Amino acid sequence: MHASSAPDHILNARLPQWLLPSDWPHQGGQPALADLHLAQGRVASTAPHDPARALPEGSTWDLAGALVLPGLVDAHTHLDKAFTLPRMGTVKPGLLGAIEAMMVDRQGWTEADIRARASRALQWAYEAGTVHLRTHCDWWEPDAPPLAWNVLRALAQEWAGRITLERVALIPLHLYTERATALRLAATVAASGPGALLGGFVHSTNWDAQALRHLFEAAQHHGLNVDLHVDEELHPGALGLATTAALLHELRFEGHVVCGHTCALAAQDEATALATLDAVAQSPITLVTLPITNLLLQDAVTGRTPRQRGITLVKEARARGIPVLVASDNVQDPFCPVGSFDPLEALATGVLAAQLDAPFDRWSEALCRSDWLRRGPEALPLQPGMPADLIVFQQADGWGFPSRTQQRVVLRQGRVAGGYASAAWHVAGTTPSPSPIPARSLA
Ligand SMILES: [Zn+2]
Repeated sequence: MHASSAPDHILNARLPQWLLPSDWPHQGGQPALADLHLAQGRVASTAPHDPARALPEGSTWDLAGALVLPGLVDAHTHLDKAFTLPRMGTVKPGLLGAIEAMMVDRQGWTEADIRARASRALQWAYEAGTVHLRTHCDWWEPDAPPLAWNVLRALAQEWAGRITLERVALIPLHLYTERATALRLAATVAASGPGALLGGFVHSTNWDAQALRHLFEAAQHHGLNVDLHVDEELHPGALGLATTAALLHELRFEGHVVCGHTCALAAQDEATALATLDAVAQSPITLVTLPITNLLLQDAVTGRTPRQRGITLVKEARARGIPVLVASDNVQDPFCPVGSFDPLEALATGVLAAQLDAPFDRWSEALCRSDWLRRGPEALPLQPGMPADLIVFQQADGWGFPSRTQQRVVLRQGRVAGGYASAAWHVAGTTPSPSPIPARSLA
């Protein structure tokens, strides 16, 4: 491999504020540019760029201030349904029409069909720079996993080392009504290997507090983490998130829980919503917001312009220290005609829908924290010893981000895995220079 596709040093990288230590220097109100030193596919060290320092030995890139992010996390997708829309013909508008079209389409699902669609999704995610992807998978029967579950398990093994693929059993809440059935479902999910989680769809139209309790008891019994679709609606009476926080406390739940959507918080009176968030902040809960599908499916009435946004209270959650991730959700299926398995597309939508400030320095964190998908100590990416999985954005800048992020160079374990490194970045070859030249004269 050409040395320049696996740099030993990356100079003058613009890293986001959230990734840097609090004592990192600033210049003109911006974090100082960073030099990353790589070794054996991992980050060896990161330091503020020092123009007086001699050019290091080895293959070196000078990014001249280009934005750099760690490998991306897409915390909520549906690979089993992806790319089904083009073959469906006309789909009736709204959520119910989408569900109806899906139920018809899935009659024709085969292993080869699911594999082809999910593989295409993973390829797109890989090209986007995603290193960790969580997919939900619809379950309909209490006794055996669906075909797609086994296909996704096989794909998780095939993609290991490129994308960590987690699978959530998206089980209708009514299947947890009987405690014995809940335990049997959890046993099946737990037996299907690592990367499997228990899930459910929790909504005011199927509300059953006892079933939700059984779900968590079963997960606890089998040592499973949980990932729920919860309160994906604008009904202010939705109780899913508040009840989840209370149950975790009562059961002393030892695993980690993701609550996706939680749109109803935006429809509740402020005191009620904030009290729920106060309880969530005391729980092992990460919120995942899905701006694209929420904008499309909430407050959706045929022939009427939507008045509400359907985005959960992301700012109030972050202000309380609650981890919040932004993710893709449905892609080119009856629930959502657009999408590209590029988490930056979801963030760009969120920036507008939720009026997110400082998208690069603050909110890009919501695309990069895989440690927020498990319980345990915080683990920022790109720290010394961690894999050199990173993305360089050649055309974006810290003001317009995430605009112009389409072009990117993806490094995986220190090597270029996608995109083309600019010739202008190369400032040294693999042969050490006999008399080191200051980097500034080459920038
Ligand atoms: Zn979803």
